[in-house]
Amino acid sequence: MATGILQEIGSTSAIADIAKKVVDGERLTREDAIRLYNHDDLLSVGMLGEYARRRAAGDEKQRYVYYIHNMHLNPTNFCVETCRFCSYANPGNDSYTWTVDQVIDEARKGVELGINEIHMVGGLNPICDLNYYEEVLSSLKREFPHIHLKAMTAVEIEYLANLEGISYEETLKRLVAAGLNSMPGGGAEIFDDEVRARMHVTKTPAPVWLEIHGIAHSLGLHTTATMLTGIGENVENKVDHILLLREQQDKSKGFMCFIPLKCYYDGTTIKDEVKEPSNDDLLRDIAISRLLLDNFPHIKAYWIQLGESLAQVALSFGADDLDGTILREKITHAAGAKTPLQLAKERMEELIQSAGYTPVERDTVYNIKRVVEPAQTIELPLKEKVAALIGS
Ligand code: SF4
Repeated sequence: MATGILQEIGSTSAIADIAKKVVDGERLTREDAIRLYNHDDLLSVGMLGEYARRRAAGDEKQRYVYYIHNMHLNPTNFCVETCRFCSYANPGNDSYTWTVDQVIDEARKGVELGINEIHMVGGLNPICDLNYYEEVLSSLKREFPHIHLKAMTAVEIEYLANLEGISYEETLKRLVAAGLNSMPGGGAEIFDDEVRARMHVTKTPAPVWLEIHGIAHSLGLHTTATMLTGIGENVENKVDHILLLREQQDKSKGFMCFIPLKCYYDGTTIKDEVKEPSNDDLLRDIAISRLLLDNFPHIKAYWIQLGESLAQVALSFGADDLDGTILREKITHAAGAKTPLQLAKERMEELIQSAGYTPVERDTVYNIKRVVEPAQTIELPLKEKVAALIGS
């Protein structure tokens, strides 16, 4: 496999030295990553990402692509913050806040369909204080003890801790006692202070976001990490963001997965002042995060944002997870995503198989629930698939 990738990249390529480092298992630097973002041959960058994915997975699992049968719950869209890229929060008369009973009723609809994870995040709403979330989590656990509760971003933890005047650790311990099983990685946005200032992001600066995840890891919680693009960031901002995550993972080791996200602009006023990520940009985010994050087990192609075709190609650029069936997704669709609101398990498996991989249904912390035998598919060469999406 090692000789093959070096031959494919070619000894005269401008990134031949980086390819050699990848094959030798040498950690890539900030400069390496910036060169990969600026390299003109996207396919070579993708091949390196795919190589790193296969090597991390090991021989037996190198064709595995994971998904989970889950649902999203968003108990409130009222938020005291006004991040300029957010279309989800504060839509005037359409603001809502669910009672605990309403949360349970919504959850029951997913549980009856056989989900095994509830992914719950919401706005920063003073009505939804720590007592509210303790009650929500403990009620969900009492009603549905077999369901994994992945909930509360670092942003929500910071807000609740400040509201109560207690530490992040105390806040997390109380939520864990109520039933919290793991944390999603939302709210990281882009860590760069200037981009955040332009986007009016006053919540959870990088040191706080990273500290809260570190505390969660020390309490035994697994978490994920995200990066939001299309909000005026440059390549250097993205690389620095990913490197801060790598540094935190070296220390606390609890991140399961990295998820690059892109901004949708419906309902915002930022579209004319930022560059919308192209398909080329999105595929590089997948491949380069896989290469830089040598200590993250999984990289996710979030199908609900990428759409089915691009998510499939992302699997050949280093991603090994398509996320979930996602009943009731609201946040990306509030901002204009045109993807379906949910996918059936069968469709999820079909997508993975037709991309040439083996579907694996997982639980939240990547325990394998079911491996689906790979179907006999006629795979289009990667070059053709990428050309269809990038137009080159
Ligand atoms: S991105 Fe999060 S913190 Fe910012 S306004 Fe939207 S819900 Fe509130």
